[in-house]
Amino acid sequence: MFDRFILSSSLLRRVTSTTDVLILGSGAAGLSAALRLAEAGFQVSVVSKGTLAGGSTLWAQGGISAVLDEDDSLENHVQDTLVAGAGLCDEAAVRFTVEHGPDCIAWLVEQGVAFTQEDAEQRGQRLHLTREGGHSHRRVVHAADATGRAVETTLSELAIENPRIRIIERSVAIDLIVDRSARRVHGAYLYDRGTERVQTVAAKAVILATGGANQVYLYSSNPFGASGDGIAMAWRAGCRVSNMEFMQFHPTTLYHRDSRSFLISEALRGEGATLHVPNSDGSVGERFMSRFDDRLELAPRDIVARAIDHEMKRLGVKHVLLDISHKPAEFIREHFPSIHAHCLSLGLDITKDPIPVVPSAHFTCGGVQTDLNSRTDIAGLYAAGEVANTGLHGANRLASNSLLECLVFAKAAADDLTRELPDMAEPPPLKPWDESRVSNSDEDVVVAHNWLELRTFMWDYVGIVRTSKRLLRAQHRVDLLRREIVEFYRHYRVTPHLIELRNLVTVAELIVRSALSRRESRGLHYTLDFPKTDDVAVPTILTP
Ligand SMILES: Cc1cc2nc3c(=O)[nH]c(=O)nc-3n(C[C@H](O)[C@H](O)[C@H](O)COP(=O)(O)OP(=O)(O)OC[C@H]3O[C@@H](n4cnc5c(N)ncnc54)[C@H](O)[C@@H]3O)c2cc1C
Repeated sequence: MFDRFILSSSLLRRVTSTTDVLILGSGAAGLSAALRLAEAGFQVSVVSKGTLAGGSTLWAQGGISAVLDEDDSLENHVQDTLVAGAGLCDEAAVRFTVEHGPDCIAWLVEQGVAFTQEDAEQRGQRLHLTREGGHSHRRVVHAADATGRAVETTLSELAIENPRIRIIERSVAIDLIVDRSARRVHGAYLYDRGTERVQTVAAKAVILATGGANQVYLYSSNPFGASGDGIAMAWRAGCRVSNMEFMQFHPTTLYHRDSRSFLISEALRGEGATLHVPNSDGSVGERFMSRFDDRLELAPRDIVARAIDHEMKRLGVKHVLLDISHKPAEFIREHFPSIHAHCLSLGLDITKDPIPVVPSAHFTCGGVQTDLNSRTDIAGLYAAGEVANTGLHGANRLASNSLLECLVFAKAAADDLTRELPDMAEPPPLKPWDESRVSNSDEDVVVAHNWLELRTFMWDYVGIVRTSKRLLRAQHRVDLLRREIVEFYRHYRVTPHLIELRNLVTVAELIVRSALSRRESRGLHYTLDFPKTDDVAVPTILTP
C-alpha cells in the first residue's frame, strides 16, 4: 500500500494515467455516477472487467421501484421496504432512497431510457407501473421484461459519446491504492486483459460500483464477474463491511450444463407450474410444496427456496423439477416466449418436459458500509450499488429496490464529489505495480480447483438453510483455502481468475463470520440452531 512506497521520478513516469474520479464498475451505479460527474465538468474514468455492459444490470428483468402513482405514497414505499427488511433496515437510508426515487426515474427518462408507457395515446405522459411481491401498490417502472437492458444500453451509449468520460474496458481492478496513515485513497491497480500488464491509475477520488458477490456460490443468477471484488478491495483497504450474512436466493434457476444463470421467472408458478422431486429415473416425482406452506408454489420466494433446498439436501439430488407441461402448448409459448425459446435451444421443450431447477444466489444485501453521501471509511473512497450496504435492504431486499438504490446512491456520491472535488488535492506520485519477485504460474489447475471447491462448500454449508456445525465446517475450509490462495498470490503473476479467487475467498470469510455471529434467524439468514427472531435487530458490522 501507499505508505510503503518510495517515490522517484522514474517511477513517476510509469504512472499510466490520472483522472479526477476513477469509477470501478459500469453497471447502473457506475455509469449514472459517471454521467452526473461529467455533466458537472469533471474528468472521469470508468473501468469494467469485461465489456462495458457486462454486469448484473443488463440482466435485470422486473424493473425499478418508485412512487409515481397518485394512489401511492412515499410512506407506503418506506413501510413496504421496512417490512421486507425484517427490522434491520436503516430507516434514514430507506426514507432517503424512497424520497429520491421519482427524481432518479425522471433523470433516466431524460437520458432516453424507453420505459413502457401506460398506453399508446399517452406516450411520454405516464409510465406503466407493475406490482411485485411485497409492494402494497403499483410502483415498478419497467421496460417490458428487459428493464436492465434498456437502462444499461442507454447509459453505456451516452458514456461512450461523452468526451469527459474515459472508458477502460477489459481491465480488472486488483487493489485500491491507499495512504494508510492518512486513510485516503489515491487510485487503483488495474490488470489489463489485452496487454496482460498492470496499470496504475491515480485519482482524487474513487467510486466502487463493482456489483455483488453472488458468484461465491456454486449456483448464481448473476454473470461470472459478480465475485465481490469491490467488497474485498474495500475490506483490504480498511473499510467496515456489514450484513454479509444476508444473501438473497432466487428459487428457480435453470439447471443445465450449458446454461448456468438463466432465471425461470416466478410468473410460471403464478400460471400454475408445480414443483416436484425427481424420481430416480429422472421422471416427475412427488409434488412437495404442500409439506412446507399452505400457499404451495405461490409461497414467498424465501420459503420456496428453502423448501427446494431442503428436498435437494434430503434426497441428495442436484435439482428439482418445475412442471408446466399440463398447460396447453400454445399458452406456454405465448406467455413465456423467451423461457420457451431459451430452453428449446438447449434441447428442452417445456411444453412437454419438466424443467430442472435449482435456487441460486441472486443478490448481496450487505456490503461496504456507507453513509447517505455514499462515503466509506476511507477519505475519497465512495461505494454505490450492490457493492455497498447503505442500510436500505436490512435483512431482505424488497423486489426492484436494488436498481433504485444504484441510481440514488450514485447520485449521492456524484453530488458529494461535486461539492468536494474542487478542494481535493491532486493525487501524489504512486509506485507502479511490482512484479520483480513473482513468476508465471505453472499450476493454473490450483486456481480452477479452488474456485470450484470454494463455491461448492459455500453452497453446501453456507446456503439457504444454515446450521452452526456446517458454518464452522465452512470456516475451517475457508481458512485453509485463504492461506493457500495468499501463498499463490505472493509467488505468481496475477491473472483475472486469481484476482477473483482471492476476492471470493475474502467474501466467503466475511459471509461465514457474519453468519456465525448472528445467533437468531432473521430475513434471509435462517439457521436451524437459532430458529427464533430476537426482539431487537442489530446489524453485523465487521471491522478490518
Ligand atoms: C437476473 C437478474 C435479474 C434482476 N432483476 C432485477 C430487477 O428487476 N430489479 C432490480 O431492482 N434489481 C434486479 N436485479 C439486481 C440488480 O440488477 C443489481 O443489483 C444491479 O444491477 C447492480 O448494479 P451495479 O451497478 O451495482 O453492478 P453491476 O451492474 O453488477 O455492474 C458491476 C460492474 O463492475 C465491474 N467490475 C466488477 N469487479 C470489477 C473489478 N475488479 N475491476 C473492474 N470492474 C469490475 C463489472 O465489469 C461491471 O461493469 C437483478 C439481478 C439479476 C442478476
